Amino acid sequence: MKILVINSGSSSIKFQLLAMEDETVLASGIVERIGEDEGLVKCTFKPGTADEAVVKQREVIKDHTSGMRLVVDFLTDKKTGVISDRSDIGAIGHRVVHGGEDFHQPTRITPEVMAAVEKNVPLAPLHNPANIDGIKVARELFADVPQVAVFDTAFHQTIPPHAYHYAIPYALYEKERIRRYGFHGTSHKFVAGEYARLVGKPLEQLNLITIHLGNGCSMTAVKNGQSVDTTLGLTPLEGLVMGTRSGDVDPAIHAFLARNCNLDIDAIDNLLNKESGLKGLCGLNDMRDIHDAIAAGDQRAKLALEVQTYRNKKYVGAYMAVLGRVDAIVFTAGIGENDEVVREKTLEGLECFGISMDLAVNDQRIKKPTLLSTSDSKIEIWGIPTNEELAIARETQAVLQK
Ligand code: ADP
Repeated sequence: MKILVINSGSSSIKFQLLAMEDETVLASGIVERIGEDEGLVKCTFKPGTADEAVVKQREVIKDHTSGMRLVVDFLTDKKTGVISDRSDIGAIGHRVVHGGEDFHQPTRITPEVMAAVEKNVPLAPLHNPANIDGIKVARELFADVPQVAVFDTAFHQTIPPHAYHYAIPYALYEKERIRRYGFHGTSHKFVAGEYARLVGKPLEQLNLITIHLGNGCSMTAVKNGQSVDTTLGLTPLEGLVMGTRSGDVDPAIHAFLARNCNLDIDAIDNLLNKESGLKGLCGLNDMRDIHDAIAAGDQRAKLALEVQTYRNKKYVGAYMAVLGRVDAIVFTAGIGENDEVVREKTLEGLECFGISMDLAVNDQRIKKPTLLSTSDSKIEIWGIPTNEELAIARETQAVLQK
């Protein structure tokens, strides 16, 4: 079966077409700057193979419907396309950011499911409306094709109440549904599953700390294969230090900024989400630029790296306490896979807890699952590339096979 994975954002649509027999990627790409003066569609056919071909097209892309139509045209193009007709697509998997408390697993899309996703818009006002647009367009263009929603929050619905409640008036949970939800669930679940597969053990018997470090960063405590705590909270702002997001701050910072810096709610929200994190500390949000700056003697860049890796370490300690026994710590995503310095500094000094990294092996970019700990480390350390599109495609297939 061929599955089309769609990740629809406010002004972009990322897509990937996979042949599930051997999980090969037939095409992947992005429609960007939807609704702007000039949009761009970029599609790579058969990426990573000898037949790889890249096609780009610039034109005005009025809305998501026009964007998706272009994707279909690209995929079915007589000369360069990889399918003859849109009916070759057996199913569509959609990334949906917020499933609230309604969705514990990927779910086939029905009118009731759409209504529940709409209900969760207040919890993810930037993301869910764009995801809904993507689903609507796909349903219009592929009326008969089964469609599945895969939620970033679903994997974390096993977190117990003592870990998901904030100590604020209970009525706010009842009325406004304020609690920890967690995000990046598809990625955490994927690498946890990959680890289980690699070591040949049932996931239900494994305790893991999975560390997703990309533009957004989060850490999850996985007990007996289930998420029992995670660093992102009501929104994707809490916890670790991210590219432009602060992670944990004293919650009173809002009142302080309002009173002393004359900032309104939107300005504070913007400051903590877009002007903070690594960028806030040193002006740079890409770890590659930060290393270049450190090499050139930039003390702020050095501080940013130290603040981020110290926060990582603090949560590793917290989750070791949460889990008791830990089988492995798994690094993934842009920084987690590519940055040996961040991995090393995150776990530095934890040898007394049975965590011992093989620094020679760690000194590489992770292209495939790699064991990074020494043979006598009590807790294994792994780098495992994440693949959210493949994860969504697998989940979609599994829902349809049920
Ligand atoms: P997202 O999916 O959240 O947009 P990614 O998981 O692709 O993000 O991670 C992007 C980040 O990964 C970049 O901002 C950069 O900090 C980091 N990154 C990518 N490549 C490298 C590299 N070679 N070395 C260090 N960091 C890298």
